[in-house]
Amino acid sequence: MKVNKNQGNYEVFIEGSIGEGSPLFQLDVRDAVLISIDMEKLTYINSVGVKGWIQWTLRVPPKSKFSLRRVPLVIINQASMVSGFLPPQAVIENFQAPFVCPDCNTEAVVPLARGKEYEYAAGGQPKRVDLPTINCPKCKAEMEADFTIAKALAFLDKPVPA
Ligand SMILES: [Zn+2]
Repeated sequence: MKVNKNQGNYEVFIEGSIGEGSPLFQLDVRDAVLISIDMEKLTYINSVGVKGWIQWTLRVPPKSKFSLRRVPLVIINQASMVSGFLPPQAVIENFQAPFVCPDCNTEAVVPLARGKEYEYAAGGQPKRVDLPTINCPKCKAEMEADFTIAKALAFLDKPVPA
């Protein structure tokens, strides 16, 4: 894990799995005004990791901005299925979405961004998901999302902080 701290701004880069004794759980963020967590290199989270994560997020100041970037599907699934996995102030800014080719099984990770491919429900507007058309780099067939859209993106039902 790497942390860049500039006064109350924390930029955290998680690497590997989140489980027992993850260094993140020792990170004191009580003075934070902004926390940005980059999860591109996060590989896995186990049940101990989920508990530790929830306990750690409870220490994030309620008024601090809390954004998650380049979030892999393993975390997207937790955010959508586990109540309380994300505190109210958390926003998922990008999702590293797995796609697969139905013809040749080639896999690809496609970054999806809030405000472009998806948006939270807010201001009377419903949540929105517009998956891009991705053509297989090998055979040019149209690739398919390798996840259940409604289930994985249920986190968008959470009210987004202003
Ligand atoms: Zn293909």
